[in-house]
Amino acid sequence: MVFDELELALAELDRAHLRRHRRVLESPAGPRVTVEGRRLLSFCSNDYLGLAAHPELIAALAEGARGWGAGSGASALLGGHLVPHEALEQRLAGFLGLPRALTFTTGYLANLAVTPALVGRGDEVFADRLNHASLIDAVVLSRARHRRYPHNDSAALERLLKSSTARRKLILTDSVFSMDGDMAALDRLLVLAEEHDAWLVVDDAHGFGVLGQEGRGALSHFGLQASPRLVLMGTLGKAAGVGGAFVAGDERVVEWLISRGRSYVFSTAPPPALAAALLMSIDLIEAGEGRRQHLQALITRLRGGLAPLAFRRGWRLADSAGPIQPLIVGDTGKALELSAHLERLGLWVPAIRPPTVPEGSSRLRISLSAAHGESDVDTLLAALEAAP
Ligand SMILES: *Cc1c(COP(=O)(O)O)cnc(C)c1O
Repeated sequence: MVFDELELALAELDRAHLRRHRRVLESPAGPRVTVEGRRLLSFCSNDYLGLAAHPELIAALAEGARGWGAGSGASALLGGHLVPHEALEQRLAGFLGLPRALTFTTGYLANLAVTPALVGRGDEVFADRLNHASLIDAVVLSRARHRRYPHNDSAALERLLKSSTARRKLILTDSVFSMDGDMAALDRLLVLAEEHDAWLVVDDAHGFGVLGQEGRGALSHFGLQASPRLVLMGTLGKAAGVGGAFVAGDERVVEWLISRGRSYVFSTAPPPALAAALLMSIDLIEAGEGRRQHLQALITRLRGGLAPLAFRRGWRLADSAGPIQPLIVGDTGKALELSAHLERLGLWVPAIRPPTVPEGSSRLRISLSAAHGESDVDTLLAALEAAP
C-alpha cells in the first residue's frame, strides 16, 4: 500500500530527529510570545525591525481593507491589479533606485517566476551551494543545467563560467545566506556577470530593510550601480513586517515577467490591503535608522558574549555581521537538546537541522530584532552559559 511506505518514511524522520512540528502562537508575533500558555522570549522571527506589530502598520492594513476590500478577486492580469498594488510597485522601484518593480504574493513564488522566465533547457545556472530552497526549486523548474559552486567561492564560479558553452547563463545567489548569515560578494559577482554576459539574480530576502542606506538592501550596501543584467528579489514578510515579495530591475525584465512569469500570471494577486500596509512599511523602513542602529548594537553585544562561550563549549559562531547569528553545534541531537534547555528557561531559539543545513552542521539559529532589548540578549547569553 502507498501508506506503508509513507509511515516508514515518517518513522525514519522520527528516528533521525528530523520530523518537523509546528507550535501554535497564542499571541501576535514579537519578541515575547505565548506558546501553550507559557510566555517565551523568542529569537526565531525574521521581523528584524520589529515592524510586524507596529501600530501604524496595523492601522494601514485595516484602513486598506476598508478602502479596497478583503481580496483582490483575480490574478493581476485578469483584473486583480488595484491602485495600492500599482502604488507599491512604483514606491519600491523609487526606493530601490531601480527602473521597475513587480510584486508577488510570496518570495517563494517570486523566485519560481524569475529563473524559469530567463533561462531554459540547454542554458546554465551557476548557483551558490548554500542557496535558499526556493532558488534551488526555481532551477529545477527552469530545466536549465544546475551548476553549483562551493559557498562564496567566486574563483570556482569563474572557472565554471569560463568552461561553459551554454547560450544563456545566469548567476543565482542569496545576498545574505539565510541559515549562515554571511554575505555573497555581489560586487565580484556582478563583474563576472558582465564579463560572461550572464544574468545576475540576487535574493535579498534578508538584506532588504536591514542593509544599506535607509534599509535599501544589499545593492546599496555594496554601492552597486543598477545594471540591466541585475535582477533583485526581496521579501516583504521579513524586515518589512507584512508579507509578499518583489522583483525589481530592468524595464524589459519586468515586462517579460508580467507576460511569462508563470507564478505571477497564474496566481491570484495579493489582497490590496497588504499593498496598502506595505506602503506604510517602506516609509517606516526609510525612517528606521534608529531601529537599524539599535539592532546593530544588539548584534555586537550578542557576538561579544557568544564568541568566548562558543570557544569554551566547542560550538562555532558563524561569520555573520547581521541579525541572523547561527551557533553551530554539529550533532542534530545536541542542537535539539540545547534548544530544549533554552526553552525550559523560557527562551525560544530554534534548532536547524538537515536538510535545511548540511549534515553535521545542525545549529541554533538566533535571530535578533530591533524589538529586543539589551537585557533580552543578556538573558539569552546567561541561559546558554548555563547549558548542561
Ligand atoms: C524567506 C525566504 C524566501 C521566501 O520568501 P517568502 O516570502 O517567505 O516565501 C526566499 N529566499 C530566501 C533567502 C528566504 O530567506
